[in-house]
Amino acid sequence: EYSVVLQDVRRVYGRGSNTVTALNGISINFAPGTFTAVMGPSGSGKSTFLHCAAGLDRPTSGSVFIDGQALAGLSERRLTELRRERIGFVFQSFNLLPALTVWQNVTLPQELDGRRVNRAAVRAVLDRVGLTDKRKNRPGELSGGQQQRVAIARALVARPAVIFADEPTGALDTQTAADVLELLREPVRTQGQTVVMVTHDPVAASYADQVVFLADGVLAGSLTAPTAEEVAD
Ligand code: ADP
Ligand code: ADP
Repeated sequence: EYSVVLQDVRRVYGRGSNTVTALNGISINFAPGTFTAVMGPSGSGKSTFLHCAAGLDRPTSGSVFIDGQALAGLSERRLTELRRERIGFVFQSFNLLPALTVWQNVTLPQELDGRRVNRAAVRAVLDRVGLTDKRKNRPGELSGGQQQRVAIARALVARPAVIFADEPTGALDTQTAADVLELLREPVRTQGQTVVMVTHDPVAASYADQVVFLADGVLAGSLTAPTAEEVAD
């Protein structure tokens, strides 16, 4: 069972004679426990791909499945529920609320859902991203790398099946980026999470098990990291 499946996905913006085909027939599967980087030049369709795969945008044609569930048949309300239950998002710009503390930012999705906050899970995830002693601080008091670690804690706390990351290291220096990428990679190994990350950065992409390349809205190729046995040979 794949976590995310795209079948012949097309996304055309605009109408009449003024259209842009951002995705032109994309088919790809993402299995649990895989970390994939999506690369390609500016305008190749990376953002549109991520938005369609994550149910933030609806394809013009073709199908997207998350955990075997077809997104096309879902109402906006059910789609929102599915995103909340199954998907974590990490963005280049962190998307934290400046008036809330670190703890409140991490627990906000649960609060908004009317769920009981799992305090032990929040403590565990803050510990893992190294921000336990910053839990009462606000984002403005943190460095960029610390803010991105808050965003990762917020994405991980509900243990979503899939994490979509859009240029998660785009605003970070090299060492901070490496820390953030390790945090994204760990649950892939330990919990079979699926991570799909759009990036321009080859160093960021090197953390993935698989790199797929987009060009003009189509899949132009892919690379798979060698296994440990292959490296040893
Ligand atoms: P990337 O993320 O690789 O830069 P995008 O998915 O943002 O690529 O864009 C792919 C193509 O679709 C580009 O030609 C872009 O200008 C166009 N595009 C993206 N979003 C829209 C939109 N909302 N309306 C019209 N064209 C768009
Ligand atoms: P990103 O950093 O995700 O690539 P962009 O700056 O490319 O963001 O786009 C920001 C927003 O503008 C997105 O919602 C995208 O869909 C939209 N957009 C991108 N290109 C175009 C375009 N040519 N026409 C209209 N909207 C666009």
